[in-house]
Amino acid sequence: MTTLVGLDLTGRRVVVVGAGVVGTRRARRLIEDGARVVLVDPSPSEDARRMASHGDVEVVERAVVASDLDGAWLVVAATDDPALNAEVARWCLAGRTWCVNASGFRAGTARVAASSTHGDLTVGVVSAGDPDPRRVATVRDALASHVESGAVDLRRRRKRRGRVVLVGSGPGDPGLVPVAGLEALATADVVVTDRLGATALLDRLPADVEIVNVGKSPTNHPVPQAEINAILVDRALRGLTVVRFKGGDPYVFGRGGEEVHACRRAGVEVSVVPGITSAFSVPALAGIPVTQRGVATSVHVTSGHVGADAAALAALAAGATVVFLMGVSALPGICAAALEQGVAADLPVAMIEQGSTATERVTRATVGTAAQVASTAGVRAPAIIVMGRVAAPGFLDDPVCATTGVSDDD
Ligand code: SAH
Repeated sequence: MTTLVGLDLTGRRVVVVGAGVVGTRRARRLIEDGARVVLVDPSPSEDARRMASHGDVEVVERAVVASDLDGAWLVVAATDDPALNAEVARWCLAGRTWCVNASGFRAGTARVAASSTHGDLTVGVVSAGDPDPRRVATVRDALASHVESGAVDLRRRRKRRGRVVLVGSGPGDPGLVPVAGLEALATADVVVTDRLGATALLDRLPADVEIVNVGKSPTNHPVPQAEINAILVDRALRGLTVVRFKGGDPYVFGRGGEEVHACRRAGVEVSVVPGITSAFSVPALAGIPVTQRGVATSVHVTSGHVGADAAALAALAAGATVVFLMGVSALPGICAAALEQGVAADLPVAMIEQGSTATERVTRATVGTAAQVASTAGVRAPAIIVMGRVAAPGFLDDPVCATTGVSDDD
């Protein structure tokens, strides 16, 4: 029989006897769990020595003696000598200390579960049979991917203090939502969502999850930010888990900071799951690397909402890639200001609408032609506008174009 328990090893002494490949690997895992690990081995591995030099473990460089186990909460016998491991296990029995024996489960009193952590939940798998770590890990992986898929209802059944999680959902393709975002979504009692981002995922939430849509669209008035903040705080104070589901990354022109302020002011616990910003991912999907050695060594991300500011114009003039969000309506003014600043009229411009979605469209132009081309093509928001040499058509297809100016190899 095996009883699976969750140990809190934080700050507790754990002795690993044997600092070869197995012992060192076990030690690393225990350190991640917060344990104060002591490795005992007359000739520790290079890796163990390095961990010791970083201050992550204490290494005792000699043969183990029984008193090394004094004060240990848990012992791992991981030498390649089964007789020595058995001896260590006997010392542990005498001292009533749990012992994981790497030479065989039955030779010790404890076994470490193969586990995966999902927010505050840890899923663990152990086998009571003969050692077969791959089999146990396969079961663990299957369970982990099921939880990570977001398909498991992770809402709290027992009410506690409410909280807000800002989740960045990327440019739109649900495949670009981070695993932590999917898991956070599965914990939501309420989702407060934008119009942009991976909103398709909201269809599969349980029917009793409240969805509050605060997204702007051409046909509805935007919900004022103060009202969004009030919705978040109000629901959280009622003890609910609120996911603020946002396009791209919450802190890139997403007003995430204002929402965090509002929560903190109201004493509401708030956390953030970063997302993949459209500023970099939408160009990437359109074949535009925003930096390229020897071509563009800086990238400047800006809001084009009210035109180009001085910093954006200076960056353009200095040869940086400039990425405009919300720049469609101000595009003519942006291009005029750039030309006035001395930016070459033939500098490439790419306009990418609805990046990562089925309706993605890429329109190419130059600073001199972009206003006219955008108007003729009917370019509409949401769109990312990239200005710079990296935005040249076929940039990645043409090795000459993509490496112009490269002379060093760092
Ligand atoms: N926080 C978001 C940006 C919000 S501002 C992020 O990090 O991506 C909204 C602007 O983002 C849009 O006007 C548009 O310029 C850009 N945007 C977001 N998603 C986009 C997409 N899928 N395709 C093109 N542009 C997008």
